Amino acid sequence: MLFKVPRGTQDILPSETWKWQQVESIIKHVSDAFRYKEIRTPIFEQTELFQRLVGETTDVVQKEMYTFTDKGNRSMTLRPEGTAPVVRSFVENKMFGIPDQPVKLFYVGPMFRYERQQAGRYRQFVQFGAEAIGSADPAIDAEVIALAMNVYQRAGLTDLKLVLNSLGDTECRKAHKDALIAHFTPHIDEFCSDCKSRLDMNPLRILDCKVDSGNPLIATAPSLPNYLNEDSAAYFEQVKSYLDDLNISYVVDANLVRGLDYYNHTAFEIMSTSKGFGAITTLCGGGRYNGLAEDIGGPSAPGIGFAMSIERLLLAMNAEGKSFDEEPNLEVYIVTLGDDAKRPGFKLLNELRKSGIRSDMDYMDRKMKGQMKSADRLNAEIVVVIGEDEVAEDVAMVRNMSDGTQEKIATSELVGKITSSLKR
Ligand code: ATP
Ligand code: MG
Repeated sequence: MLFKVPRGTQDILPSETWKWQQVESIIKHVSDAFRYKEIRTPIFEQTELFQRLVGETTDVVQKEMYTFTDKGNRSMTLRPEGTAPVVRSFVENKMFGIPDQPVKLFYVGPMFRYERQQAGRYRQFVQFGAEAIGSADPAIDAEVIALAMNVYQRAGLTDLKLVLNSLGDTECRKAHKDALIAHFTPHIDEFCSDCKSRLDMNPLRILDCKVDSGNPLIATAPSLPNYLNEDSAAYFEQVKSYLDDLNISYVVDANLVRGLDYYNHTAFEIMSTSKGFGAITTLCGGGRYNGLAEDIGGPSAPGIGFAMSIERLLLAMNAEGKSFDEEPNLEVYIVTLGDDAKRPGFKLLNELRKSGIRSDMDYMDRKMKGQMKSADRLNAEIVVVIGEDEVAEDVAMVRNMSDGTQEKIATSELVGKITSSLKR
């Protein structure tokens, strides 16, 4: 073997794409019910967009981006996440001017992060994300969370836990940040080098550090809820009561901070509590990002969104033993005997397909027995047999494979009669 699929990526083979298509169809139906419209942005963007919006001090920007210089000497980056491109497009296309606000968008597409490969963590993965931009109503926070939960529920998942937190507004975040710096500075030598460099720029991320999670100073660190000002606390209460209205249960975790810099107020994650699920339990992450549109020169447009990967959704379905619908079987297989029969068979095949009937025939020069075996393997509902006699009579033998009955049908009536006898 000269070549292998790149580390951290995977081929999704036909037996799996069927599952992907089902999940994507659930996503489209649920998004449609919530009136979120699909947006498709480029796979790559100017590097600076992510540096600025995701944040210079985040792991994503510091370590995980696939950045390259194009032939025009511009720095480009394969998108590591979807919110920055969507907000860029919102501003660039002046969607803030659309009368119907907030603007509700969803996307499904590949994201790229240079990460260490493990179960549920890939270098190319597909995210479904939704964004509602232009409203600071706490009900829309609950709506966005409900959208994500609905997708999981429609996929049959039950072992779910919604974890919520409020990061407060800029003022609370600043007060909390100062308190964190004061708390960690005297002991920063006990922390990893990443945390040392996070201290001044982004001490909140120390709470999220995978290396130092056991350090007792993490547990005793100044807790965000104590720094929420009145407005932020009231906002959070409203989000929670809207979730109560929707019967969506949640737990509040004061230490939930999200990996990307742009969040404020509501932050949430949806985890799988299924025993079969691996070490990584987060299925979905999201939050509010008021101020993001302004950061790239747009008008004030408060937003909230989430992203989930399809890979982890499928893993969770596996872990919970969820089955998928059966793949639709072949409807008609045409068996031909001899050269004279092949051409009328080939023509019939084309007619059937034009009528939208899933049909196929042999291209391997197999004998009758081999062709019948193929039809069996493909679980064909109907087999049409055309031999020399049939050609001479301008008919075909149509066999119903479930009850074994067969009937001779005139060529001109074949498509009509086959269509009406299919189960469908
Ligand atoms: P993690 O803590 O697992 O690294 P994150 O905070 O980096 O997640 P986000 O940037 O919030 O994740 O992305 C949202 C969702 O996208 C995650 O909850 C997860 O479902 C998915 N996701 C993130 N990174 C990967 C990856 N490398 N492979 C597969 N799915 C991923
Ligand atoms: Mg990550």
